[in-house]
Amino acid sequence: MKILVINAGSSSLKYQLMDPETGDVFAKGLCERIGIDGKLNHKVPGRDDINRDISMPSHAEAINAALNIMVSPEHGVIKSTDEIDACGHRVVHGGPTFSSSCLIDDKCIEAIKKCIPLGPLHNPANLTGIEACLTAMKKTPQVAVFDTAFHMTMPPKAYTYAVPFEYCEKDDVRRYGFHGTSHRYVSGRAAAMLNKPDAKIICCHLGNGSSLCAVSNGKSVDTSMGLGPLAGVPMGTRSGDIDVTVVEYLMSRYGYGIKEMTDILNKKSGVLGISGVSSDFRDLEEAIAKGNKRAELALEKFVYEVRKYIGAYAAAMGGVDAIVFTAGVGENSSSIREKITRGLEYLGAEIDPDKNKTRGAEADVSKAGSKVKVLVIPTNEELVIAKDTQEIVGKKH
Ligand code: ADP
Repeated sequence: MKILVINAGSSSLKYQLMDPETGDVFAKGLCERIGIDGKLNHKVPGRDDINRDISMPSHAEAINAALNIMVSPEHGVIKSTDEIDACGHRVVHGGPTFSSSCLIDDKCIEAIKKCIPLGPLHNPANLTGIEACLTAMKKTPQVAVFDTAFHMTMPPKAYTYAVPFEYCEKDDVRRYGFHGTSHRYVSGRAAAMLNKPDAKIICCHLGNGSSLCAVSNGKSVDTSMGLGPLAGVPMGTRSGDIDVTVVEYLMSRYGYGIKEMTDILNKKSGVLGISGVSSDFRDLEEAIAKGNKRAELALEKFVYEVRKYIGAYAAAMGGVDAIVFTAGVGENSSSIREKITRGLEYLGAEIDPDKNKTRGAEADVSKAGSKVKVLVIPTNEELVIAKDTQEIVGKKH
């Protein structure tokens, strides 16, 4: 089976053609600068990258460019788009409606549209990707996979905000959480590695955007992001948890409107805001090596907050069997993993410095005898999307 996985952003579209059974990737690529000019980077394993400037006024041209190159006689990996059995789309906000993936039909599209007020930055872009694929591949089934769905198992005490209850009931105000596809994948792998399906696992998805998730018995029981992806630990450019009084204070002091203020919290805060150097953790580590104190504080703050969440989730679950690191920082930075776990000895979590040198591969990096396992598991959201798509399309036929 061949599944085309699509992740559409406001001006970009990532695609990956893969086999959901084996995880083999036939081709993948990135269309960027959609609506501006248009650039395509296309990769086929074992071959040179292809980079093209192609006019992409909208996502429709982007998906056509991707399909054309996948079927082209010169660079193709398939003879015709009929070989694509189904498309799986990443959709960021599933609101209170979606607790699992679903086949895209008119009803599903309407429901995704209804979630736009909750996910105003992402859902419209995800929908443009879906519409472009429906137009380009009229007979191919399409499936939506939601970032929020995995967290719908959280108990009310974890997802309820302490605001007047009418907002929770009438307006769907609650914690939703994100990176659910990633947390689902890595917690599943961790439970398999431990050979313990009912394990208590704390997943640390640390990338440009970061979130933690407490998983017990295969289910998300708490997560650090909230109604939107601003909450939780500080990120590349997002503040993470913040006292609303700060917001009120800055708005009245500088006369900022809501849009200006949320832009500051989303795009100018986090480790970029503290350091003034970069949102990229590699740049931070470089600056620290040169003696930059603000970069040092930014990293210290990030590490401290991640460690605090780990402690909180261990307390929330009444114990922990494994702490898992994933995503750009979690998979690649041994020094940040080491800094986070330093101080978790009381929990029984200890890292082996040699094993912790691993990068980008599945590994148990805990010290021999460490009660809590510390694992590095590269995430694979595309594989989860492809597998869900295969399952849902399989059921239909
Ligand atoms: P996104 O949230 O955009 O999907 P990723 O999970 O790809 O992000 O993570 C990207 C981030 O990972 C980069 O901003 C960079 O800070 C970080 N990163 C990647 N490699 C390393 C490394 N070797 N050391 C430290 N940080 C790294």
